[in-house]
Amino acid sequence: MACSTGTMQRLECHVKNYAWGKDGTGSEVARLFAAGHPNHQIGTTTPYAELWMGTHPDGPARVRESSENLSRLIARGVENNNAKEVHLPFIMKIMSIKHTLSLQVHPTVEQAKRLHKKDPKNYPDRHHKPELAYALTRFELLCGFRPATEIVQNMEAFPELQVIMGEKESRAFITHVEKGVSQESPILKKALRDCFAKMLNAQLETPELVEKLLATFYKRIDEGVRGALIEDTVPVLHSMRQHFPGDVGCFSPLYVNHMILQPGECCFYAAEELHAYLSGECVECVGCSNNTIRAALTPKFIDREALIDVLNYRMTTPDFYLVPPERLADYPAVTEYAPDCKDFTLHEIDITSAGASSSVPLPTALPPLECASIIVIVEGEADFEAATTGFKAPAKQYARRGDIYYIPARQAVSISRVFSPRLLAYRTFSYELGPDHSARTLVQPVHAPHFCSDNILPIRTKTIRKPELEKFNERPKFGLENADLFDVEADMDGLC
Ligand SMILES: [Zn+2]
Repeated sequence: MACSTGTMQRLECHVKNYAWGKDGTGSEVARLFAAGHPNHQIGTTTPYAELWMGTHPDGPARVRESSENLSRLIARGVENNNAKEVHLPFIMKIMSIKHTLSLQVHPTVEQAKRLHKKDPKNYPDRHHKPELAYALTRFELLCGFRPATEIVQNMEAFPELQVIMGEKESRAFITHVEKGVSQESPILKKALRDCFAKMLNAQLETPELVEKLLATFYKRIDEGVRGALIEDTVPVLHSMRQHFPGDVGCFSPLYVNHMILQPGECCFYAAEELHAYLSGECVECVGCSNNTIRAALTPKFIDREALIDVLNYRMTTPDFYLVPPERLADYPAVTEYAPDCKDFTLHEIDITSAGASSSVPLPTALPPLECASIIVIVEGEADFEAATTGFKAPAKQYARRGDIYYIPARQAVSISRVFSPRLLAYRTFSYELGPDHSARTLVQPVHAPHFCSDNILPIRTKTIRKPELEKFNERPKFGLENADLFDVEADMDGLC
């Protein structure tokens, strides 16, 4: 199956107004959306939580010029294809988080298929959802169980944790750790699972005990007891208490790592990892799925049994989840964040300029990709040039903050001029084919973006060009020969 080339297209994307989003102009999602839509009035009390850039049916991007769904445009570019829609395997998002989102986990592909079969209402997708978060501002999250020694330290500093996790279960966990049982050992993971299950079920069985224990736990915090907690975790505890009083999830910072990312830092976790976003703004890349199993700290559906089953009970330090930035030698404007996952890779494009001089010589090429990508400009304005076929001059495209473009596979793009002190953009791509969502029940988007009528310049594409980066050659190609559109799940199995 061959994929024909297309053109660079400006997109219209969905905003999600989830309650945990930052309100009005306090939200980068709102400001960025308004930058791309000068007529948009930002609602002062409206939460602007997420901007979705992808083809997922819960918030599909459309081509601005034609209002066609991006998935249809992609499908038309795939030769010998009968499917009406072809999806990208990722959703790139901008997120603005006011307070804690639910404590949650995402299933593996196998687990997702099972859950979807059992309960399609709560698990609408049959696909997995690895997640990457790149901090735009100071960005806080809970991610992964703490090292075993820290959990023990907190159990000892806060006896409430032992009570809520079960005295017998907690004692067994502490004894194993004291005997030197490795945290990689299935014995210790089983002991943690027992503690975790007991604690989650306490919310159902003895909610008044949860409330009583939380009261004494907070009293201890107020008295200055810290255990393995850092001072920065104290405000997180108070915020959780305020938003989710009596919720057993308020104990989570005692056994889950509290990560604080500075702008430019990036973390990744695949399926089976317990996590919760706390505050700040980020670029998020996720698998093209909406499957979430929630544990606590949410008014939404909580599936304790599935959650207890799905977790991998890995205990480790936060640096395990960090994605190192990689400067691409031939592309000085580009920093790559490539997690151990085929669903997405993130490129940061950063150029500073003063008058005629720029931090990188212009024009500067973006890495040519044999797969489709989406780019969002978050700061500044610049001229992009898309290579054309034959002897025609490259097509010029002026783009600025708030603009979002789809770049088809094999479209060579460079930046020729920067008109602002800084140009900052993010580009997400993947060589995988996205999942087949055709059987999915469509959920109406919460907020439909309005469409503007001004068109972008038509851009012609260049003939096939081999990726210049050696590592890209090793990866599977998007939409090329021998890819079976309807066997995407099999392709995605075992990844991440
Ligand atoms: Zn998640």
